[in-house]
Amino acid sequence: MTRHFNFCSGPATLPTAVLERARDEMLDFEGRGLSVMEMSHRSEAFIAVAERAEANLRELMQVPDNYSVLFMQGGATQQFGCVPLNLLGKGGRGNYLDTGIWSQKALKEGRHLGEAHMVASSEGNGYTAAPGQEALSLSEDAAYLHYCDNETIGGLQMDYVPQVETPLVCDMSSSILSRTVDVSKFGVIYAGAQKNIGPAGIVIVIVRNDLLDQARRETPSMLNWKAFADNGSMLNTPATYAWYLSGLVFEWLKEQGGVDAIEKINRRKAQKLYEAIDNSGFYSNPIAAANRSLTNVPFVLGDETLNKAFLAESEAAGLLTLKGHRSVGGMRASLYNAMPEEGVDRLVAFMQDFERRYG
Ligand SMILES: *Cc1c(COP(=O)(O)O)cnc(C)c1O
Repeated sequence: MTRHFNFCSGPATLPTAVLERARDEMLDFEGRGLSVMEMSHRSEAFIAVAERAEANLRELMQVPDNYSVLFMQGGATQQFGCVPLNLLGKGGRGNYLDTGIWSQKALKEGRHLGEAHMVASSEGNGYTAAPGQEALSLSEDAAYLHYCDNETIGGLQMDYVPQVETPLVCDMSSSILSRTVDVSKFGVIYAGAQKNIGPAGIVIVIVRNDLLDQARRETPSMLNWKAFADNGSMLNTPATYAWYLSGLVFEWLKEQGGVDAIEKINRRKAQKLYEAIDNSGFYSNPIAAANRSLTNVPFVLGDETLNKAFLAESEAAGLLTLKGHRSVGGMRASLYNAMPEEGVDRLVAFMQDFERRYG
């Protein structure tokens, strides 16, 4: 059996140790004679799994006590709609910062379900740099400011947390747990699990409790944060196995030393790859230095006709899923927590060898 290095942006690579543990526990979980997948979500055993996962996530992110942690479904995309539904019950509109494709999708849903105001956009610089705090033209009667911490497709990451009077709502799908954040600065943080946490099927929502009473009347209970908070995220049958696996990833992350420790490794990994790109005359990445993503590194080849060869040869070398998003082209390497530093070293060596042969 061989595990290759998988650079997919999501569903993404998981720690091998987590998969091994899931394998070992698959048929007979804790000597109970059944797998987690086959258990009632109301059983004592599963409730313990669920509570342990939440407690570990709270510890890893130092989530203050006045925040609820929800395990929902429907992905981050569903949260694009949940944000206006849950926050505009008292009127007003949403402020939105546009730094790329995911920000735009959130804005579009904000417009669809309420009123949305774009405070600034990176469009003018071709989505290569984030607007600074001074560039934000905030609508005064807004209920929140929504932004995306890390644009997974463009590889553009915010280098500051906006300072605003309204609650901050942040899509951290591809950056949650990759670097430390001060949760108390946010009203709402949400993240699909399949990038930096676990398998697809779960979206984590961390919401300050005073924001749980602002939902619009027509909000379906399956989209209502308060309904999830009041019911331990078990309004209906949750994605139990994905929840369990996410919990195993949290335990693994604690064993690695927590978010501080993994952030250091992540910075080292990203720096190695960006340096390799910058030091070559063959590969390039257009993003402003301050906004280069820690977790998603897009790059293009000097000669685009070599893309096919690059992809075929990298795959043969055990470096999987390097194809860039169709809207950007070229390549993209996602360096989430579960990507070992060795994977980046192997990628850099491959890129240098490819350049020697074709460049
Ligand atoms: C992947 C991603 C999404 C969409 O996630 P789904 O779980 O597929 O809905 C939204 N925002 C960001 C930043 C993402 O990376």
